[in-house]
Amino acid sequence: ATGRELLSASDVGRTIARIAHQIIEKTALDSDEAGSPRVVLIGIPTRGTTLAARLTDKIEEFSGVRPALGSLDITLYRDDLRSRPHRPLERTSVPEGGIEDALVVLVDDVLFSGRTVRSALDGLRDLGRPRSVQLAVLIDRGHRELPIRADFVGKNVPTSRAEDISVLLTEHDGRDGVYLHQE
Ligand code: 5GP
Ligand code: MG
Repeated sequence: ATGRELLSASDVGRTIARIAHQIIEKTALDSDEAGSPRVVLIGIPTRGTTLAARLTDKIEEFSGVRPALGSLDITLYRDDLRSRPHRPLERTSVPEGGIEDALVVLVDDVLFSGRTVRSALDGLRDLGRPRSVQLAVLIDRGHRELPIRADFVGKNVPTSRAEDISVLLTEHDGRDGVYLHQE
C-alpha cells in the first residue's frame, strides 16, 4: 500500500506494547490480590483478532499473566447488514472460561462510526455478562455516529470521510505499517 505513513513498523510494535502496559495498569492485572477478576481480550475479525493476539502475548510478557483470548464475528449483529455486500462469516471463538464476570477488552484495528463496536456489544450479550467492557483500537479516525469511545487508543488520526486508513500487519500483509490515503 502507498499513501502517507502514519505508523512505521517499529511504531506499530511500540504502540501495541504501550497499549499492553495500559491494559495491565487499568485492569490491575499484575496485582496478586486473590479473587481479582479475569481479563479477557476479544478481537473483532480480521485484524482486530490479530491485534488482540499480539496484545495477549505482550501482556503475558510484561505482567506474567496471560489473558484469555477470543474473537467475535459481528457480521450478524450489524444494523446495516442488508445494505452491505455479503461476506463470508468470520469465526467467533469464545475465550476459555467464557466472559461471565470478566473484564473484557474489545480490540479492533480502526474505530470510525462506532457501529461495529455497538454490534460487538450486542454479540457479547449472547456470550455472557462481563463485569465491564473496554475498547482498545490501533487507530481512531473520528466520525463517530454513536456515543462510543475507546479506552485505549494507539493513535488519533483526524481524517476526512474521503480518506482511508490501511492497517498492515505481518500476519496478513507481510509487514507492519499504517498509511493514510485518498479513496
Ligand atoms: P465503524 O463500524 O466504526 O464505522 O468502522 C470500524 C470497522 O470498520 C473496523 O472493524 C475497521 O476494521 C473498519 N474500518 C472503518 N474505517 C476504516 C479505515 O479507514 N481503514 C480500515 N483499515 N478499516 C476501517
Ligand atoms: Mg474490521
